[in-house]
Amino acid sequence: MICRSEFMVSIKLFGGAKEIGGNKILLQDKDAKIYFDFGESFNFGEDYFYDWLQPRKANGLEVYFEFGLIPKIEKLYDEEALKFTDLEYQKPDVDAVFVSHSHSDHIGHLKFLDGSIPIYLGHGTKRVMDVYNKLYPQFACYGKHNTFSTFKSGDKIKIKHLTIEPIHVEHSVPGAYGYIIHTSKGPIVYTGDFRLHGPKSSLTKDFIKKAADCKPYAMFCEGTRMESDSEKNFTEKEVEERAGSIIKDSKGLVLVYFAMTNVDRFMSFYRATVKNKRILVIDTRMAYIIDNLREKITDLPDVRTDENIRVYYKLSKSRTFCEKDYKTFEREFMERRITYDEISKDKKKYVVHSGFNKLMELVYLQPKDADFIYSSSEHFLEGENNKDELRVLENWLMHFGIKFHMTHCSGHVCKKDLIETVKTINPKLLIPIHTHVPEDFKEFHDNVMIVEKGGEYEI
Ligand SMILES: [Zn+2]
Ligand SMILES: [Zn+2]
Repeated sequence: MICRSEFMVSIKLFGGAKEIGGNKILLQDKDAKIYFDFGESFNFGEDYFYDWLQPRKANGLEVYFEFGLIPKIEKLYDEEALKFTDLEYQKPDVDAVFVSHSHSDHIGHLKFLDGSIPIYLGHGTKRVMDVYNKLYPQFACYGKHNTFSTFKSGDKIKIKHLTIEPIHVEHSVPGAYGYIIHTSKGPIVYTGDFRLHGPKSSLTKDFIKKAADCKPYAMFCEGTRMESDSEKNFTEKEVEERAGSIIKDSKGLVLVYFAMTNVDRFMSFYRATVKNKRILVIDTRMAYIIDNLREKITDLPDVRTDENIRVYYKLSKSRTFCEKDYKTFEREFMERRITYDEISKDKKKYVVHSGFNKLMELVYLQPKDADFIYSSSEHFLEGENNKDELRVLENWLMHFGIKFHMTHCSGHVCKKDLIETVKTINPKLLIPIHTHVPEDFKEFHDNVMIVEKGGEYEI
């Protein structure tokens, strides 16, 4: 622990240290105080909450403070959130929060921040967050009081004497950024989450070049896959090819699951489907997501007109598929509507986006000789906490005689590419974050700082 002097640059991690996700990085330089990300850890609250035992909204931060789940920091949180806590509300002294991308492990706790703290984020990030908020207000990832300023890659944002430069990177969600932060001691790089094996790897390459050119004296580097030494690094292209061959060999309906906001994966399945002369069926929520992101990502197909896409409407209360049975946003795609009835008549013609929450549709679709492609992180299938869900999924697949397949590639850079990235950027000081194994970075860098959660370090 150190005593701050006004001439030093210091860092403090309230999340993201020796853990994957939950990034909350405080950077202080002279009188400037900036956070990079304010996320929620993946295992947040799981030791104290379960199923119906959940904190109520009215509790604000009280319950979280009780169990030490959220750092007790003065001059940071929203007055309402602090209402029942012993932390007194004071006007914030934080200059800004910079968000790297829209995953909950980076933005999940923005909702607790005081509304007067400016939050900077990319245009694309904001769009993904807005779409998600509209569709899943119960999981709202930011608060009604948050103040946002949007940027685009390459902008230079002045905060007191600091200049912050966001630069696009490729990740498993659109609108992901890394940063170069020009401090009084020199440039610091923050990679955010990134990868180099997808269709937009040129974005990450661009970031790496700019980061190397600025000759940083320090770098926060994500290391999610640092520990997975032997794992093959599948590319997005390989996922598309594997999906294509499963679809080609299938004798019936093909059901697929991939994350709703993984646009690259959507495109892989779209192409694999079209190549096999089938039609991709997505639900109204995914149609809304693709429709809304298309303005920013112009290579996405137009769900309103594209003949290779149909929008699935679930059986509603009236069982007549009439417009008024659906939410306003769903009604927009009525013209592209398809129902279980039409699919059932020629199952070999379709690839249907499915998933755990949509299994009920199988009762109506009555698939025979069907294939299910799981195309998301293996963590769900391997996770200790998902055993019950997995058992239910297996039972459904078994009941309908559906063959299970898997094809996926990570949203995170593989170990080999990570080492190469560090060597190319070549920071004087390397600070591994978003990893279980920060020590492993010492294998290929001679000045690695291992940070503990809550500790303050001069850099
Ligand atoms: Zn992350
Ligand atoms: Zn992420």
